[in-house]
Amino acid sequence: MAAINPDFSKRLSKFGAFDFNACYNCGNCTAVCTLSTENNSFPREMLRYSVLGLEDEIRQSVKPWLCYYCGECTTQCPRNASPGELMMSLRRWLTAEYDWTKLSGLLYRSLPFTILAFLIAALMVLLSAYSKKFDLEWMLHTGHSFEIIAISFVFVIILLPNIIRMWWFIILKPKVRVPLKKYFNALGDLLVNMFTQKRALGCDDNMFRWFEHFILVIGYLGLLFTTVFLDWFSSGSSVIIITGYVMSFVIFIVTIDFIYDRIRKKKEISIHSQPSDWMFVIWLFLMGLSAFLVRLFIDTGLLADNRWLYILHQIILVQWALIIVPFGKWTHFLYRSFAIYFEKLFD
Ligand code: SF4
Ligand code: SF4
Repeated sequence: MAAINPDFSKRLSKFGAFDFNACYNCGNCTAVCTLSTENNSFPREMLRYSVLGLEDEIRQSVKPWLCYYCGECTTQCPRNASPGELMMSLRRWLTAEYDWTKLSGLLYRSLPFTILAFLIAALMVLLSAYSKKFDLEWMLHTGHSFEIIAISFVFVIILLPNIIRMWWFIILKPKVRVPLKKYFNALGDLLVNMFTQKRALGCDDNMFRWFEHFILVIGYLGLLFTTVFLDWFSSGSSVIIITGYVMSFVIFIVTIDFIYDRIRKKKEISIHSQPSDWMFVIWLFLMGLSAFLVRLFIDTGLLADNRWLYILHQIILVQWALIIVPFGKWTHFLYRSFAIYFEKLFD
């Protein structure tokens, strides 16, 4: 029998949900959602589950991840129940549920805890640089080693077990039988959706937003590859240097537009920004900008006299790699892609 939790709406409000209890089940939201289909109908069903607190049903559903938050359903809701924002809050809640460390939930629910985590990360960088008397060569070498270690650690210790937990909730626990062959056949779709998020094109008037996200993903992955695998800050190759400049420039230009959107609050998607949304775009912007400046200072011979810039870049990087990527909004990119993959297995 389904377990009903009347306190669920209180818990969900900590993840950003508004008064979804105002919903009177008219179905307008599902009717206007261009991504909702006969087989995968949302967001009304998720509203019902949330009102009743059917946590198990929500945990085993991929539907919150199939929404790309265009906000159309919220605009058309006659009861101001904000179904689009509810879907976003469910994605935050699910991120916390998948996370075995439980740190995601703490970071989403508590701003003081988030600030403390950011301060500890900054202190770690400052103390390690201070212990080596701010030796630039040591900092550059350690910074590069940190990137490699952090990526491996975060993926193997945090993200991989969390994806396995997600798989458990969606496929294993409800005893969905999936032939092994299907897992392999759907792998192509997983990669295509991960890098293009092409489903977002199904939202009305979404071409520009999709394109911005697409080039941001290219810029982010390009910068990651250039700095981590091609050692951009120490490279003498002009191809690698120019590639790094272009990628970091793309990141900070696109993120400026995202930040501007959130400040203007003209679109439904940017009206209810939570701290986690702000941190995601601001830290991406700072990463792109600080990486660009560090390389510029290297090329102009100014970095030795301005080590503070590299330390600042390292602080931003460590906060990004150890807090936002494993526990924050970055994970949505991964979980959404896997949700689409798991959905494919049901076909
Ligand atoms: S959320 Fe609004 S539009 Fe959707 S079913 Fe409820 S009242 Fe209707
Ligand atoms: S926000 Fe857009 S994509 Fe998400 S449920 Fe509402 S209408 Fe559908």
